Amino acid sequence: MPEQAQDDSQPPGPSPIQRLHESLINRIAAGEIIHRPASALKELLENCLDAGATSIRITVKDGGMKLLQIQDNGCGIRKSDLPILAERFTTSKIKTFSDLSRLTTYGFRGEALASISHVAHMSVVTKTKTDSCAWKACYSEGVLVPPKAGQTSGPKPCAGIDGTTIIIEDMFYNTPTRLSALRSPSEEYARILDVVTKYAVHNSKVAFLCKKAGSVTPELSTSSTSMDLAIRLLYGHAIGKELLHIEVSSPPPNGTSRTIGSSGSDDTEQWSAEAYCTSPNYQGKKTVFLLFINHRLVESSSVKRAIESVYSGVLPKGAFPFVYLSLEIDPRSVDVNVHPTKREVIFLNEETITERISDAIQQMVSQSHSRTFEYQAGLSTLLLGRSNESNAKVSRKAREEVENGEEVDGEERPASSHPTKLYSQHKVRTSLHDRTLESMIPVLNPSRSDGDDVSKITVGLRDILESNCDLTSILELRKSVQKSVHHDLTEIIKKHTFVGIVDDYRCLSLIQHATKLYLLNHAAVAEEMFYQLALMQFGSYRRLKLDPPPPLRTLLKLAVDAEPGTEKSGLSKNEIVDRIARTLLTRRGMLAEYFEISITSDGEIESLPHLMKEYTPDLNKLPAFLMRLGPQVQWQSEKECFSTLMRELAYFYSPSPSHFIPSIPDGAHTQAKAATWQIEHVLFQAMRKFLVAPKSLLENDVVQVANLPDLYRVFERC
Ligand code: ADP
Ligand code: MG
Repeated sequence: MPEQAQDDSQPPGPSPIQRLHESLINRIAAGEIIHRPASALKELLENCLDAGATSIRITVKDGGMKLLQIQDNGCGIRKSDLPILAERFTTSKIKTFSDLSRLTTYGFRGEALASISHVAHMSVVTKTKTDSCAWKACYSEGVLVPPKAGQTSGPKPCAGIDGTTIIIEDMFYNTPTRLSALRSPSEEYARILDVVTKYAVHNSKVAFLCKKAGSVTPELSTSSTSMDLAIRLLYGHAIGKELLHIEVSSPPPNGTSRTIGSSGSDDTEQWSAEAYCTSPNYQGKKTVFLLFINHRLVESSSVKRAIESVYSGVLPKGAFPFVYLSLEIDPRSVDVNVHPTKREVIFLNEETITERISDAIQQMVSQSHSRTFEYQAGLSTLLLGRSNESNAKVSRKAREEVENGEEVDGEERPASSHPTKLYSQHKVRTSLHDRTLESMIPVLNPSRSDGDDVSKITVGLRDILESNCDLTSILELRKSVQKSVHHDLTEIIKKHTFVGIVDDYRCLSLIQHATKLYLLNHAAVAEEMFYQLALMQFGSYRRLKLDPPPPLRTLLKLAVDAEPGTEKSGLSKNEIVDRIARTLLTRRGMLAEYFEISITSDGEIESLPHLMKEYTPDLNKLPAFLMRLGPQVQWQSEKECFSTLMRELAYFYSPSPSHFIPSIPDGAHTQAKAATWQIEHVLFQAMRKFLVAPKSLLENDVVQVANLPDLYRVFERC
């Protein structure tokens, strides 16, 4: 017997075993299944999909802890089933013991709703097609409860559409330790979005929407589409454009073609898999792995490891793939109960199946690898020539560093020989009454060059290479630039001598070419050039970081408030702001991937495309730019969408004056000087180098004002 302090009055002995109170047992059991809002959501999503929903809308408050609501348009729940809906082990999916082993629907033990009702307030509104109205029922600890004290607990009739809405409030209100183990609402929300995103990929024919309560703009919104497009939309263009599609299955047994799940003793040997995974051209920071087994999102560290080892052979160290894998096997051969969360799975013949899949991926990946390599080698000689090769490398490195969130040395600095440190709080202004942006954003500014020879700065604009893009829309737009070229005008601009700015406000400048003098609208000409620069670099822009990121809505509000005549639309200014914000937020993914216009889920603008390293657009025009994106961009069709968006981008970049900024007398002179200097030394220089002048410029924007021989003739006559 171990030594211990003796207490004669109370001899040591075992404490009596007591039965825990039933509600406590249920709560503990529920906690095994429902860990956090995202795990509840996973169960609920599976129920919606089981119910045949084609549209699922999720609303979340405080990371799902305060509210998690999920609405579907599935088959609904019969009113007569509502009383036992949240009881443990009540399900419409299993009837007999043998069903349990051949279950193909996701949910399988009737535990999810019961568990949720033990750790949260749960209510359900549901309507089947044959019901004449919807029914609402509230649950606590597995049973129906009255919605309010004094009322009865039965389902109440109410208005509603076909389908089911499950409303979960105050999750873990009765299990404080569980509650305190949760992370911040934003982290929990991120997990929720992660689950929804994965199910939205796997069920690409179903429309998903996920948003925060009270917000009009969803963070995720999909409509029925193909799986590769869903991946592109949800995980981005960088992944979307490198996807390889793989299908592999078990060999048919003795030449017969039996389908999976049909009866027969060797069905457990049958399986099929479909995967979308990235080619080695995509190099992510960590593996993104989506694994669905029989349409349930699960985890399997052994499958993941096997696939990662395929990629470790072709990717550089520290680079990882995106892999989506959907495996269908006989339900009898899956064991999802190894892990209490039911996420980590093991299955029969796991090793053989995993090996076959890894081999198929291996084969596809290495094929794509060699193909891309040859293609790129050919392309780079064609595109880069000798001298630009090192340049391209440098710019690629710069880009990577910018993507990694680091500022490249000298990247965003003034061209002065003594670069001044810029603190982030000085970079962006969000109020009109603050300083102007030019004084915060480093621009090429003569006042900073401290007597340096400014002409040194005007030489050597960085080369801009055409991005490698295979979208037909972009290729067509690029072609039409070449088609509308006016060779003489292009030549004139290429070889001109700058004479001077004639009218700042109307953006008129004089240039000379040979013996002729031309008056041109430099804002319009620069706009054309920026459109072409946008088109040329489509899909791989440098980033112009906005730090701190200004809030989209604030900027929109500024612009809409300053916009005359909005009442004609029949909408209030706020409604217009809402609409535009919604339009932009629903297209966040596309804007970020293609245009580097990165807007956070909270609606902050983190970056814009930087069309030309040496030129920073006048950010006073940012509010108007964002506002115009709403009505001016034709979002519906790809080509028009890209071209109108790039036109707006070009207009934003052009040096046309911003209209609604009140003039700020202090420092106005220096700013005007800086702007003028930029036009002459950067923009005209860039037009020489990059512009493919279209014929259309001759209509309004460039006119010949004098021809020297004619002038001589005039003088001769005098
Ligand atoms: P399981 O999914 O394992 O059956 P759950 O507790 O998740 O158990 O759900 C219990 C039952 O409630 C389901 O079997 C189904 O009949 C019904 N149900 C739950 N959610 C929905 C829904 N969104 N639409 C229709 N029926 C639902
Ligand atoms: Mg279920």
